[in-house]
Amino acid sequence: MTARLMMVGPPGAGKGTQAEGLCERLDIPQVSTGDLFRVHAKANDELGRLAASYSNRGRLVPDEVTNRMVEERLDEEDVADGFLLDGYPRNLGQVEALDQMLARRAWALDAVVELVVPDEEVVGRLLERAKVQGRADDTAEVISHRIDVYHAETEPLVEVYAERGLLLRVDGLGTVEEVAARIDAALARKLG
Ligand code: AMP
Repeated sequence: MTARLMMVGPPGAGKGTQAEGLCERLDIPQVSTGDLFRVHAKANDELGRLAASYSNRGRLVPDEVTNRMVEERLDEEDVADGFLLDGYPRNLGQVEALDQMLARRAWALDAVVELVVPDEEVVGRLLERAKVQGRADDTAEVISHRIDVYHAETEPLVEVYAERGLLLRVDGLGTVEEVAARIDAALARKLG
């Protein structure tokens, strides 16, 4: 089955973990803008240095840069039969850019999975992740800013996809397996 999906949720909601699992189960590639930026940052190339200058402060990388990187990714062969966007789009401007990218390819999203996790829970999870993974953007101050950015810029797009009839709201509390089962059930109801 070709599935073109997107996953949205606050930082620390378990998006990356759930996106990875879902991609394995559906055999589709995961397109994570955060991961793509981190690969560039690690390589210390121009895009990586630019992205890190924003992400290290919990800010969004400028849309122009992000959109171009996603569009290039969508031109690669492996996404032709479906994909899961993880961490993109992140604001309404990116929704518009994505709409155009998809339209140019005569593609459309089949569903958007929102992982719902309260703020208090995500702060705890991110501080824990900071200890384990040592990500530069998992300090208390940056975490708090990233959550503010999520509410201000990213949350509004949830409403857009709800209006389009694509939104699946999934409770993100519980074990990885419990949340994965909820995602699978919601997708099965939607996609059949
Ligand atoms: P993530 O791993 O999805 O939490 O992303 C880590 C950081 O990468 C974010 O805090 C942003 O600085 C940057 N980033 C990831 N995705 C996007 C996006 N769609 N637009 C702008 N910046 C992004």
